[in-house]
Amino acid sequence: MAQTTQKWVERKYWNEKLETLPREELEKFQLEKLKEIIRHAYENSPYYKRTWDEAGVSPDDIKSLKDIQKFPFINKKTQRDTQGVGSFLGELAAVPEEDVVFISTSSGSTGVPTVSPFTKADFDAFQDTESRWFWQIGMRPNDRYVHALNFSLYVGGPDVIGAQNMGALCIWGGTLPSDRLLFVLKTYQPTVIWTSPSYAWQLGEKAKKAGIDPKKDLNIKKIIVAGELGGSIPATRKAIEDLWGAELYDFYGLSDIFGACAAQCEYHDGLHIAEDHILVETVDIHTGEILPDGEVGELVYTTLQKKARPLIRFRTGDIGYIDKTPCKCGRTHGRIHINGRKDDMFIVSAVNVFPSDIEAVVRDIKGITGEYLIRIFEKDFTCKYAVEIEKNADNPKTDEEVAAEVSTALKARIGVKPARVEVHPDGGLNTRSEHKSSRVIDERHQDYNI
Ligand SMILES: [Zn+2]
Repeated sequence: MAQTTQKWVERKYWNEKLETLPREELEKFQLEKLKEIIRHAYENSPYYKRTWDEAGVSPDDIKSLKDIQKFPFINKKTQRDTQGVGSFLGELAAVPEEDVVFISTSSGSTGVPTVSPFTKADFDAFQDTESRWFWQIGMRPNDRYVHALNFSLYVGGPDVIGAQNMGALCIWGGTLPSDRLLFVLKTYQPTVIWTSPSYAWQLGEKAKKAGIDPKKDLNIKKIIVAGELGGSIPATRKAIEDLWGAELYDFYGLSDIFGACAAQCEYHDGLHIAEDHILVETVDIHTGEILPDGEVGELVYTTLQKKARPLIRFRTGDIGYIDKTPCKCGRTHGRIHINGRKDDMFIVSAVNVFPSDIEAVVRDIKGITGEYLIRIFEKDFTCKYAVEIEKNADNPKTDEEVAAEVSTALKARIGVKPARVEVHPDGGLNTRSEHKSSRVIDERHQDYNI
């Protein structure tokens, strides 16, 4: 028996057959699931029945994966407008409430929080996918894992069950205050932790201030991050890795679907998306026109298996692209690259600017702390941006020199210069938070038409 267990632990994949399915077979599987979910949605969700009848489409129209393009889009607004209509779960839901065992809600950071329901089977599939990602980053049953994500309503909370199911020793850290969390890291010597990128950075800094060297006194080998883009920004990733002496992995979930949508593998070249659960399309941000794989646009997802509330052609608001070329790790599921949120993007002199581009620059410059604040404003009817940063106490350069350096680097990376760069001393910016950090202030006049 011991030998069998040993072999199991040495496996490279959590579910080898599924993860390495040849593209053609993967798409055959997707088509089968797509037909099922479209029929399920049509027969059980009042919203889909009504809107598809109006659009003149029906489940019989699905003969190939491309036929999904005949169906109308939905978005966050659809979720809000249908929430609570007709029943507690609303018109998008496709199962009765008694079949639902769990709901998570979105953060509500861009409007009314939306509810995402799960049946027992949906929830189990969510956790099995999460186990796949934990296994993918090399986590094994002999790892000690700290889940330092919020448990309240947040879809990332239950991900810890995926770690337990694959056999790791799990510590439900939640949102413990930093000093308590550092006590856990020091005393129990866990090997893997999941948190947000900004908090991973701050926690490491706090450890150092408390006389703990994350590299020597702690045993963290892998850090999982999600919820912000930092994990896929090379300079941010490197800064956190250097601070902890650990390898960083970016994960991606959506409360609208589940907390286990995509994750990096050891090659860190995009995030493998669970194509057995999610059919990905990319569309033009403005026109909704379908773009070929590999082109940057808004990512549109169709959930292939989630029964409680199927999302058919959900415009996520995430801007990025999918790479379906084979990955060196042997997995065949495509890799998504996310540039930012549509809501966060702003246009300066006809250039699309994402806060993540600015972060990439700021985190790459020596002699500044890496903290930043972006202000977007209008001057003479033109959109402009300003950046505030912090200079390290031991940086010999003048504030003017630092500002010029940052400005030049931003121009080189983004194509448009900031209107100004303001330099603060270390700790001068109030951007350090324990959860998602708010780093963008939009000061554009909203009602200039009046
Ligand atoms: Zn890979």
